[in-house]
Amino acid sequence: MTRALRLSLALAAGLAVPASAADKLPSVVVLATGGTIAGAASTDVQAGYTSGQVGVDQLLAAVPQAKKLASMRGEQISNIGSQDMNDEVWLKLAKRINELVAMPDVDGIVITHGTDTIEETGYFLNLVVKSRKPVVLTAAMRPSTALSADGPLNFFNAVAVAANKDAAGRGVLVVVNDWIHGASSLTKASTTAVQTFLSPLRGLVGTVAYGECEFYRGPVGKNTVDSEFSLEGVTALPRVDIVMAHENMDGVLIAAAAAAGAKGIVIAGVGNGNMTKPALDALAAQAKKGIVCVRSSRVATGRVGRKVEVDDDALGLVASDDLNPQKARVLLRLALLKTRSLSDIQRLFVEY
Ligand code: ASP
Repeated sequence: MTRALRLSLALAAGLAVPASAADKLPSVVVLATGGTIAGAASTDVQAGYTSGQVGVDQLLAAVPQAKKLASMRGEQISNIGSQDMNDEVWLKLAKRINELVAMPDVDGIVITHGTDTIEETGYFLNLVVKSRKPVVLTAAMRPSTALSADGPLNFFNAVAVAANKDAAGRGVLVVVNDWIHGASSLTKASTTAVQTFLSPLRGLVGTVAYGECEFYRGPVGKNTVDSEFSLEGVTALPRVDIVMAHENMDGVLIAAAAAAGAKGIVIAGVGNGNMTKPALDALAAQAKKGIVCVRSSRVATGRVGRKVEVDDDALGLVASDDLNPQKARVLLRLALLKTRSLSDIQRLFVEY
């Protein structure tokens, strides 16, 4: 329900609405990390552009309409294309969000981000932010200078969601193109289309049209305050590599990942997390040495179940359930901070 609607219903019901309560807007902090939403090109109709050119103050100034939804202030966390997203920015971002959401005068957070890796950052935050307050990522497919730039309305809608009390307790959210996704469910599905994000298995959390929010359901999968992960005292995350399966695959890249120091390996398998016999032998050999090996899938949707065509018990492997390889990597990195027990890690893949 919108603020205006809530107020008019309260007035219609004869409830006293103190002037200060009616006037006070929710307080939203905008954390900018870069991406195409902050990108610029030299003309409004060109495909080539550079991500992360516009600073947070310019972003806020470009959408003055959002000031009617929330009182806002911005902070620049980084200004990079999200293809360059890295652990240093992740740890800084998560730490800052946890500081901000602990402040009583902060009602919600908006994070502007590139679309390329927003699903990874969103899922990471979903596991390590310790608050029920709305934390909302948004992005754009077209740079700020483009004809029909999608950033301003996405930003406006993201502020509306972050300022909405009904968004609380639904895990970290991603708002793009009028859709409210759970960070655990969305994936980028088109390289260039504006409607690139889908939540193929878990579905949408809600919709938002010109700031009008409609929520359909809560989060799927444990998150935020119910998450057992914490970044307290964490200064580095373990290395986990993703290796993609294909026709005629051998075990060379699996061995290379182990040699590079990976503590975990995620296979973007064919079909239900499958791979060739030589690749499976190479993976099982690394699992025997203590590297945690997870079977996910390069297929766009669907779960990877245990022991369908691969004997995970015998080979010491973990199935990714419904996490795609890039999200399986995020979960495995956090899991490895706590445990190397395969049964524990398999449980995490089912619960998160
Ligand atoms: N490469 C850009 C990024 O992820 C793409 C985008 O934001 O749409 O930062």
